[in-house]
Order: sequence, then structure tokens, then C-alpha cells
Amino acid sequence: MNSTPLSLAQSLLRCPSVTPEEGGALAFIESVLKEAGFEVHRPVFSEPGTADVENLYARYGTGGPYLLFAGHTDVVPPGDLGRWRHDPFSGEIENGELYGRGAVDMKGGIACMMAAALEFIRANPDFSGSVGFLITGDEEGPAVNGTVKLLEWAKGRGERFDHCILGEPTNPGQLGDMIKIGRRGSLTGRIVVDGKQGHVAYPHLADNPIPGLLRLLEGLLREPLDHGTEHFDASNLEVTTVDVGNAASNVIPAEARATFNIRFNDLWTPESLEADIARRLSEAAGNSVRYTLRMEPTNAVAFLTPPNQFVGFIADAVEAETGLRPKLSTTGGTSDARFIVKDCPVVEFGLVGQTMHQVDERVSVADLDRLTAIYRKVLNAYFSSAP
Ligand SMILES: [Zn+2]
Repeated sequence: MNSTPLSLAQSLLRCPSVTPEEGGALAFIESVLKEAGFEVHRPVFSEPGTADVENLYARYGTGGPYLLFAGHTDVVPPGDLGRWRHDPFSGEIENGELYGRGAVDMKGGIACMMAAALEFIRANPDFSGSVGFLITGDEEGPAVNGTVKLLEWAKGRGERFDHCILGEPTNPGQLGDMIKIGRRGSLTGRIVVDGKQGHVAYPHLADNPIPGLLRLLEGLLREPLDHGTEHFDASNLEVTTVDVGNAASNVIPAEARATFNIRFNDLWTPESLEADIARRLSEAAGNSVRYTLRMEPTNAVAFLTPPNQFVGFIADAVEAETGLRPKLSTTGGTSDARFIVKDCPVVEFGLVGQTMHQVDERVSVADLDRLTAIYRKVLNAYFSSAP
């Protein structure tokens, strides 16, 4: 079987695997990995109210150390097909660039992981240790029947991982820019201020909730949450909406609402943050503002994989291949790494993210080769001196 990163990526791009469709992508990975000697499983997970989703787990080797590659084959919808230069599911190449939905996020990354692992196993069939793949079909969608359940399932089988590389597109501009060694957490809160409806000409008979809401929001925003930590930017609170929904100019409304979202660093847990928010609101409210605060449940907790030997293997491989020393970053949104980190240290490094989720998503063919070479160097370093 042809296992260059380009041919693997093209085969994957030709599978229309828009969440929650498997589209043939996992079947393709299964056939390639099985042929290379991996033990492959295809667990399907369900949950009332969501579509069943197929997933894949594969392992080569039985001993330790165990290096796991993680990723997702599902993709976001292509949008208006007429806007694409090439059919998003055709795997077409133009001017050295491979086009298709998932080219960088993240079928291209999976192709590079597979190509690197196959090369490594061909060269070292009896290496001591294990290489595995944890691939979900539910990352871009509701993400309930994906990585979380797949990790639980693997744990139930007695699988234990030592380290994980998640191949999300981490580079903002060019290959080699950035490794992600952590992610911020995310927490959403909703405030409702109670008032009393009435005629604007008779305000003494009403209680306008809007000034109270303004005071609360001012209290939330007055002081920064923190000033950042060694590896994280400062935590940030954004008010995302303020709603009164009052169409009449002569009516004082009965209530006013606001929602905010916080992206927080490793100084906080959702619980400590909630306590701080509650304190700020109560100080701003004094005795005069009647309000309720409701924080939404979150599974997005801040985490950090401290820069150690494992992170060093990846940074060194990136530098050897690209000449760039990658920035160790914790920026951006959340990712499945937040689930994996509960089981083992996880580092994210993949392709260049510039066109992800866009029309004409594409990856340079040269980058596919270079990312494969980087993963290959990591495998060599990891199994010759496991951290
Ligand atoms: Zn992704």
C-alpha cells in the first residue's frame, strides 16, 4: 500500500466525514494500520439525543513506553461548494497545495502521523515500546461520543499511555512556529437582575433593573482577574451579551440579563473562579441590586504539560526539520487535549492552521513531508531514550 503522507492525506480527504458521518475515513485508517501490524478497534458510542459516532483505537507493540497519537477524522461542513476552487472531497493538488475539507484540520496531520509511524515500524519492527492511535469522529460536533468515551473505553481495557501527541494545526503562520503545551479553561456565567415593570413617567412605582446590571458588569470588569503566569496569558473575562428585549420606550422593563465567558489560566479552577465572580458581584450589588448568578457546567479546565524532556523531543525535532525554535504556547481555544491530559502528558503539534474551517482549506505538500519527518524524529528520539 502507498503510504506517503500525500497519498494517505488524499485518501482521507476523499472520505466525506462531516460530523457525525464516518465517511469511510476510519475504515481507511483501519485497513492501513492493520496491514502494518496494528491491533485495531472501532468502538461506536451513543448517547440519547446525539448521533451514534464511530471511533478508532489502534496499537502496535505491547510493552512500554507507550506513545499515543491522537486526532479526529470528522470535519466541519464545506459550506457553499461553488465557492471552492476544487471539490472539498476530491483531494486535488494545485501549485503544490492539496485542497480539501480537513486538509489541515486535521486529516493532513493524521496522514503525517500514520506515515511517520509506518516508516518507524518498518525500520524498527522490534522496537521496545508501543505506538498507538486514538482517533475520534466526534471532535467538531457535540464531542460527547468521541475522545472522552474513547479514553474511558481504552482505560476499561487496561490501556495506559505514557505520552500523547495531538496533531491539531498549531502553527499560526508557518510550520515550526508553535507547539501547544497547554490550554486555557473556559467558563460561562449568566446574570439576571430583577426589577419591577412600570411606566417610565412613574418611576417611583417601578424598579429599573438596567442600572443594577450596569453596576454588576462594572464590578466584574473593574480589576483584572490576574496578570498571567509563566506559560499563560492573563485570564480574560468578556461580556458577550446584554439583553433586555424591551421594544417599548415608555416601559421600564422587569428584568435585565447578561452573559459572560472567561478564558482562564492555571491560577484558577472553575470553582475558585466562580467564588471570585460571586464575590465581585456581591460587592458591586451592595444591598440594592437583586440578582441571580448561574455558572454553566464546564469540562474545559486549564492545563499545562510542563516543558520537560518530552516537550524537548518535539521542539528539537521541529527545529532540526524547519530551522525554527517553536514557541511553547497555551493560546487559542479548547481542544481534546484537555481530556487526554487526565491520562498522560499531552503536547499539540500539527500543520499550519491558516485555512482551517475556511473555503479552500489547503495544505502545502511540502509541509506534509516535513511534518512527517518531524513526527519520525520524535519517534526515534522517544524510543531511543524514553522520558
Ligand atoms: Zn481539529
